[in-house]
Amino acid sequence: MGRPAPPDPVTLSALTDAGLAPVEELAGQGPVLRAALHRLGLARVQDLWFHLPLRYEDRTRVTPIAELRAGESAQVEGRIEAVERGFRYRPQLRVAIADATHQTLVLRFFHFRGAQADALRPGLRLRCFGEVRHGAQGLEMVHPQYQSLPDGAEATTEERLTPVYPTTEGLGQKRLGGLIAKALLRLPAEAALELIPAGLRAGLGLASLRDALLEVHRPSPQADTALLALGRHPAQQRLAFEELLAQHLSLKRLRAQVRALAAPALRGDGSLRARLLAGLPFALTGAQRRVVAEVAHDLAKPVPMLRLVQGDVGSGKTAVAALAALAAVEAGRQVALMAPTELLAEQHLRTFQRWLQPLGVEVVWLAGKVQGRARQAALAAVAAGAPVVIGTHALMQEGVAFRGLGLAIIDEQHRFGVHQRLALRDKGLSGDAVPHQLVLTATPIPRTLAMSAYADLDVSVIDELPPGRTPVATVAISNARRSEVIGRIAAACAEGRQAYWVCTLIEESEQLQAQAAEVAHAELCAALPDLRIGLVHGRMKARDKRQVMDAFKAGDLALLVATTVIEVGVDVPNASLMVIENSERLGLAQLHQLRGRVGRGSVASSCVLLYQPPLGRLARERLAVLRETNDGFRIAEKDLALRGPGEVLGTRQTGQLALRIADLARDASLLPEVHRVGEALLRDHPAAAERLVQRWIGAATRYAGA
Ligand code: ADP
Ligand code: MG
Repeated sequence: MGRPAPPDPVTLSALTDAGLAPVEELAGQGPVLRAALHRLGLARVQDLWFHLPLRYEDRTRVTPIAELRAGESAQVEGRIEAVERGFRYRPQLRVAIADATHQTLVLRFFHFRGAQADALRPGLRLRCFGEVRHGAQGLEMVHPQYQSLPDGAEATTEERLTPVYPTTEGLGQKRLGGLIAKALLRLPAEAALELIPAGLRAGLGLASLRDALLEVHRPSPQADTALLALGRHPAQQRLAFEELLAQHLSLKRLRAQVRALAAPALRGDGSLRARLLAGLPFALTGAQRRVVAEVAHDLAKPVPMLRLVQGDVGSGKTAVAALAALAAVEAGRQVALMAPTELLAEQHLRTFQRWLQPLGVEVVWLAGKVQGRARQAALAAVAAGAPVVIGTHALMQEGVAFRGLGLAIIDEQHRFGVHQRLALRDKGLSGDAVPHQLVLTATPIPRTLAMSAYADLDVSVIDELPPGRTPVATVAISNARRSEVIGRIAAACAEGRQAYWVCTLIEESEQLQAQAAEVAHAELCAALPDLRIGLVHGRMKARDKRQVMDAFKAGDLALLVATTVIEVGVDVPNASLMVIENSERLGLAQLHQLRGRVGRGSVASSCVLLYQPPLGRLARERLAVLRETNDGFRIAEKDLALRGPGEVLGTRQTGQLALRIADLARDASLLPEVHRVGEALLRDHPAAAERLVQRWIGAATRYAGA
């Protein structure tokens, strides 16, 4: 913000003292803890205040085993009846416990230490917390948290819901919760905490910020647990309002800052673009042509383009990106193309090599895994002015210097978080010119939300699919009919087709996701011994992931068990069947995105949405939307309409804006006020606006790992 700030009515001195103190004052100087806190973006005491729970666990009661239901998380207590250590497919430990209801529950572990297994002896009493699922012998919990209870010892039952925080390796929930509790002791009085001037707050009915923070971190025993689970508790809404406000302010500010800078006017002669178009095996759709023209028009101006291209899965965004890239190359500038995952970046690499190299345009690969001499060579090529550079966010790391970056293309932006774009922009700074930015997303967002999520961007829409696509026939099937679905895979693969089995878990940890996929993989290997079945998840090494993907692409694997890492960009036309587990828990947009991985070839494709019964009315309606339409925009509108007033099924959509507590769909009704307050703050209270952004957005590193 360039202009001098007028005097600000908000008193900030107390906040400065308490909130801006370094976390080391609470956490000490231990290097492991410091590194973990740093990874979470927790540098100051106030960062801990605003590090909000992802969800809550209910440990206020012990559920009798007889009353457990698959799909729910529960706390149980029982005595060990039997322990079995086996090595079918892989080491595993199975512990059967029973309680006074004489029902048994199996606890299953795939990762365990010998001493841990030895300590679990028949007769020992355990208190466990975990998610209940259907197993081979009735209900089970995979990797529950547990505590052993020596005879006579009573386990304490919590009075309040237990918050679960986003965390990282090396920092457990207990430790993090303890630090946050310490930080909250330093919370100043309301007047020093509140940044929205009273005049602007009037009539909004917002709860006190101080009370809201205390309640969210430590819900009172009588708090409405249903509201808390949905994120609709007034304390959560108070914080959601402020978070949306901070997002809005920072996007507005970002746009103003960027647009105040100069960009190179890229006016190529069109020769490379003409040659690419002549060489493509297809003609552009009308929508692609329109968007290509909009982009070219922006690029020709000496002001940085900030444009989002929205297009459904398969709408052909890559061709639009390639044409934009060539426009920059024709004008003598470099282009960087960034994708959120290595898998997707590699897919782009191959496409761009296929399309651009025949034109004599060099394409450089620069991902995190490019190391050593190859990395030096790539960096040298980039510095020397290689025209097109493709990679993951390694492109933004230190040591990567462009000679003359004219255009940055960012695919699947919701994975990045908007503020990462800043970092890329800085890469291009030469003198006072910055590169143009083109952002591609397959997440169609209804207009009202787009205004907020992308307040800094102009929007182009590719609203037409290339001809000849076969819609994906979608069915929802209960998990009780799982074996039928497995039979369907066997039949499809017997005909030479390929299939995906997608494991989904909405969890804070990639490790649990990976475990769920491992469990499914073992199960499918046992059920389908004649099929070659691969496994890919986010915890695998990049090289191993690629090997599995390549084998699947080559047709050497018939079935691929995967986590949602395959959500974006994977393109295997022969794969025509997809099974999605726990589909009732995912957002419609994400399901649509996943489903877009099939239906890419000429064979009729299908998608099976497995769900855990019983299905509520809303969940049924949501899955019905996917059965009825393949149009991503209609799905997005429906999703919002259904989720808006009703219950929210999953936890808040992850990734999209890296929001901590707000949910754009759920909290859409707050947006008009957010925008109004935002404008007034920027105009009349820029210092308070800056503080709000600092408080919620803080260091850009928070988004780097998203
Ligand atoms: P997305 O928008 O999901 O990134 P892609 O760019 O990967 O979609 O395109 C999906 C597929 O459609 C690719 O195989 C691409 O070559 C092809 N394609 C793109 N545009 C057209 C078109 N106009 N006509 C036919 N096929 C097209
Ligand atoms: Mg794409």
